[in-house]
Amino acid sequence: MSVEKIKLYNEWVSRIIEAGDELAEYECPHCAYLVHTHVPEKGDIFDSTVQCPNCEKLHFKVVNADGVVTVDADAWDGIQRKLARREVHHAEAD
Ligand SMILES: [Zn+2]
Repeated sequence: MSVEKIKLYNEWVSRIIEAGDELAEYECPHCAYLVHTHVPEKGDIFDSTVQCPNCEKLHFKVVNADGVVTVDADAWDGIQRKLARREVHHAEAD
């Protein structure tokens, strides 16, 4: 954990809250640290890769007005490899 990174992160959270914007909290899938995220309008979805400010590992998040789904980077890598194998299979069928 980087103390400087946590300090910068907490300053970012404070600025957002002081500006009156809504933030949601969810647990980092690696270390359970409470990470904040902007909340989209109903019907919209935000998705992005996030580096946890605490453990500094990567995860992917999908956020809508009702909640947050996360995938840790290791699981995501496994999903991508599985998809890549399917693409090879389709190419051979053609
Ligand atoms: Zn973490």
